[in-house]
Amino acid sequence: MPRSVVVTGASSGIGEATSRLLAAHGWEVIGVARRADRLAALADEIGLRPVVADVTDPAGVDAVRAAVGGRLDALVNNAGGALGLDSVENADVDDWRAMYESNVLGTQRMIAALLPALRAAAREPGEDGRPGHADILAVTSIAGTIGYEGGAGYNAAKFAQHALMRVLRLELAGEPIRVVEVAPGMVKTDFSLVRFKGDRRRADGVYDGVDNPLVAADIAEVIVHALELPAHVNLDEIIVKPVAQAAPYKVIKAPLVPKG
Ligand code: NDP
Repeated sequence: MPRSVVVTGASSGIGEATSRLLAAHGWEVIGVARRADRLAALADEIGLRPVVADVTDPAGVDAVRAAVGGRLDALVNNAGGALGLDSVENADVDDWRAMYESNVLGTQRMIAALLPALRAAAREPGEDGRPGHADILAVTSIAGTIGYEGGAGYNAAKFAQHALMRVLRLELAGEPIRVVEVAPGMVKTDFSLVRFKGDRRRADGVYDGVDNPLVAADIAEVIVHALELPAHVNLDEIIVKPVAQAAPYKVIKAPLVPKG
């Protein structure tokens, strides 16, 4: 039987790349996002099972739970992102609320809804006869541990999501359920286009001159590696940055060359 996984935010970027790689590895992928057309295209192309849902909407989360049925091997909480780059003084509180809703409450809602199905999978022995297990993974960010100017709203949401995952690991201790956090730095996706509300020039400017920013497929490799490690190995927190980035606020916009 193929292993089953829910990937939220499967319609673009990291979630799409992760869905593609998991499908290529033989997983049954249930992809969640709001854009039905993009999920439908992936359904045709990679056999993803689409659930058009907003992770901040209880009815949407119920639809995901119904699609999963009684058993699920892994949950990848990836839906989320940033809105705006406003100072604390000039913050748009609606943007801050939306970031908290999608990154934090979306993660909480999906975990609460799917834990029974994850536990059902964890109760079953694996095909090799070894004890079963399940996985809960979240794509947080280096913005979840390091603040930067203009980042406060997103920082607050990602710090909170990071805290949620740390607490979850404590609360699930004693169960065969891994709790994994993948915290990327700069990844060239639609992330900045969404952050700057469709301003393509501003979004592209984030990556201009950066020597090899990460792409979504790089993060997908890390996520799938974490999920496919032997069941007793828990990669608690994985920070992944392009070499050109030393911190959220220190990105080298020039070719990387050895000194001397
Ligand atoms: P994208 O904008 O390409 O993807 C975001 C995905 O999240 C989309 O599939 C979007 O689908 C989905 N999504 C957003 N809000 C909701 C919602 N309320 N309900 C359901 N789906 C939702 O950006 P990335 O792939 O880069 O972002 C993925 C994750 O990685 C995010 O959590 C982001 O914070 C994190 N991250 C990204 C970094 C980067 O530099 N790119 C760095 C660090 C972390 P749809 O619009 O169809 O609903």
